[in-house]
This record gives sequence, C-alpha cells and structure tokens, in this order.
Amino acid sequence: MPNWQDLKKKAMDAVNNAAEQVDYQLSLTKLRRGLDQAQKELDIQLQHFGKLVYEAMQRHDPVDWEEESIAAAKKQVETSQNQLDEARAQLNAELAKSSGGLVCPSCQAPLSATSKFCPACGQPVG
Ligand SMILES: [Zn+2]
Repeated sequence: MPNWQDLKKKAMDAVNNAAEQVDYQLSLTKLRRGLDQAQKELDIQLQHFGKLVYEAMQRHDPVDWEEESIAAAKKQVETSQNQLDEARAQLNAELAKSSGGLVCPSCQAPLSATSKFCPACGQPVG
C-alpha cells in the first residue's frame, strides 16, 4: 500500500520548489531590469557630463571643474554609478544563493551549476 502521507508531502514539496523557482526567476528578472535601467541612466548622465565638459572646454581651456553645472553633472554621474553598483551587487547576491561557489570567468558573477550562459554578462560558460 502506498504511503499517501509521503506521496502528498512529496507532491507539496515539488509544488513549493516550483513556486520558489518561479519566485527566484522573477526576482532575477526584476533585478536584471533594475540593472539595465541603472546602466542606461548612467549612460545618459555620462553623455550629459561629457557634453557639458566639452562645451566648457570650448569656452575656457582648461575646464573649470568648480563650475556649478559641471560639478552638478559630475555628482549625478557618481550617483548613477553608485546605483549601478548597488543594482549589480543585489543581482549578484541573488545569484549567489544558488551558485555553490561557481563564478563567471568574465565578470565574476555567481553562476548556477546548470548555467550555459552567464546570467549577468551573457558570456557562454562551462
Ligand atoms: Zn559574466
């Protein structure tokens, strides 16, 4: 006679595992989206900063780094860079949960044992 309690428990474990997997994949997707967003934001701020510096250089060479608009743009670049670093750290922390110590040879992001591509940088691995 089959042990129904045992079977039921196994079935519930499988369901919970699947749900956890979905949650995990969803949180990864969210974090990756956040990382993309932060990267785009940084690109925009860098472009803005570069344009300001170029214009300032045309007005006066060497550039006056204390100029208000340049100092403000520089601060925004730094803020965006920090946000990007934070987003990357969050993604890596989440990835590390299932990595078992494997890391990507290109970007050092944690990998799962079954990864064929790095989830952080997209490089093929293994
Ligand atoms: Zn990588």
